[in-house]
Amino acid sequence: MAEFSQPSEIAREALRRLALRRIPPTPDNYKALYHEIAGTPAAEAFPERHLKAIAAALPRATPDQLRLARQLEQAAGEQSWDQLRAAIAEAARQAGSEAPAWGPLLKEFLAQYERPVAGMTAAKKRESLEHVLAASGNADILFGRLQSLVRSWAQGEAARAPGAEGEAAPIAGGPPSTAELRELLALLLENSLATLLAESPDLAAEATRLAGEVRAARAPEQFAGLTGKLKKFSYRLQFVAEDQAELRAALLRVLQLVVENIDELVLDDQWLHGQIQVVTDLIGQPLNLRRLDDVERRLKEVIVKQGSLKQQLNEARDRLKNMLASFVDRLARFSESTSGYHDKIERCAQRISAARDITELSDVLDEVMRETRTMQLDAQRSRDDMAEMRRRANDAEQEIVRLQNELSQASEMVRHDPLTGALNRKGMEEAMEKEVARVRRRGTPLCMALLDIDNFKKLNDSLGHDAGDKALVHLAQVVRETIRPQDSLARYGGEEFVVVLPDTGLDDAVKAMVRVQRELTKRFFLHGNDKVLITFSCGVAELMDTEPPPEALKRADGAMYLAKRQGKNRVLPA
Ligand code: GH3
Ligand code: MG
Ligand code: MG
Repeated sequence: MAEFSQPSEIAREALRRLALRRIPPTPDNYKALYHEIAGTPAAEAFPERHLKAIAAALPRATPDQLRLARQLEQAAGEQSWDQLRAAIAEAARQAGSEAPAWGPLLKEFLAQYERPVAGMTAAKKRESLEHVLAASGNADILFGRLQSLVRSWAQGEAARAPGAEGEAAPIAGGPPSTAELRELLALLLENSLATLLAESPDLAAEATRLAGEVRAARAPEQFAGLTGKLKKFSYRLQFVAEDQAELRAALLRVLQLVVENIDELVLDDQWLHGQIQVVTDLIGQPLNLRRLDDVERRLKEVIVKQGSLKQQLNEARDRLKNMLASFVDRLARFSESTSGYHDKIERCAQRISAARDITELSDVLDEVMRETRTMQLDAQRSRDDMAEMRRRANDAEQEIVRLQNELSQASEMVRHDPLTGALNRKGMEEAMEKEVARVRRRGTPLCMALLDIDNFKKLNDSLGHDAGDKALVHLAQVVRETIRPQDSLARYGGEEFVVVLPDTGLDDAVKAMVRVQRELTKRFFLHGNDKVLITFSCGVAELMDTEPPPEALKRADGAMYLAKRQGKNRVLPA
């Protein structure tokens, strides 16, 4: 049935159809057409791109997951069906054989939770458990951490929960025994280091192996052998740590570059400059997860904003380009018709000077009249065109103004205050809603503190509005660095801020705000070389069981006013 039998004919026909159907001339398209014409089945292409996308979307929280994702990535990169098969088998193995045994773990957990241990109160255990629950992002991580917690309780010491703040409780009954130290070392190698080393599977495996040897070591010569191995391991660890530090620094540099370039793209957008500055400042500080999270959220906001801005700028530019093009067009036509007119008039003038009788002259005059009228009509049309174009330019300008207004309204939707980087009201409402739902679910307390800077008008009047702005930035920074990561700071009004403190009772919340106050007396605001002390008055309210959050905020506001009335620079509970 094939119309073309020679490969060269098929190839020529394929090229012809590519052009005819206006299909992009890629190798894949060419191949598909070739097979279509030859009537042969198309060779199956390896779905490299799709597989890579799948690999990129896989979780990488545990060493196993990381290994699997890499395996899939490699299979895609090398277009190897065999490797792909192996990767899928590995996934099935992980899913089947390594499902966490929650049942036995929970049984052991309950037994250890109720077992009395000297030096470790029930409250302490509960606190460690809460830390583990709060710090574990997914079920696998939670399982691992819960397992270590239970193991540490079983050994009778209050190990610090992973990711927890605070002091580890003393080990029961005086200094630890060799067996305890050995177990601690094994736990350190097995749980902490092996997890930290997810990016270096060799070393993670080595850590697990060493943990086994540490546990098994009994004889002095076994210990001697271990010392050497541990030393070697620690050297290798040091190299990895150095590599990771370099990697982090390089990533930050890339991020910085990206941020700087976004800034370059949109020079005229004040709002964006504010956001970018905050991101740049955040990148400049030592890294922690909360800060990175902040950077990520802000970058997303910036990208959305930039996207809409760019699209609108492009549209406005296209409109202006079109207008300019049609203007040049008209101008060309106008000058063409006028130069035609001049030529004709010139010819008429010659005929007039050569005219010998009146009839000849009247003919010429008729022609002059005709040409002049045409010329007038042309000019009139051009004038009309110009007027129309001016009207369209005005319309475009109004459209740009409208879009800009819309844009500034859109920026209000964003969750952060550009000056201080604190949440804005909308951001605070969102954060508050989330936290309130969480504490009500868990039955823990939540406090909100409202603070208002003392005598801020005076500071503005004496040092200037810019210094006032900088003082606000300073205050926000000190507050943010003094409160806990889970607390949030919002700019509530001009010089009023709200701190939301989840899982915190009234006394502790008051103490936290007093700590901020004290920190401000240590970290002066610098105006040039002058140290300026910023103080604030603050009211703290604990959210009651069914109380709507705005009501609690109102009570905090009342307490804040009371603090002002009692002489300012103080924190009062509502
Ligand atoms: P008090 O101790 O009673 O709170 O005195 P105060 O001067 O702080 O009182 P008030 O709340 O009346 O004044 C707040 C001033 O804060 C008024 C306004 O000029 C200033 N302000 C508000 N927002 C900003 C801002 O974004 N930047 C600067 N520089 N000043 C601001
Ligand atoms: Mg005020
Ligand atoms: Mg004030």
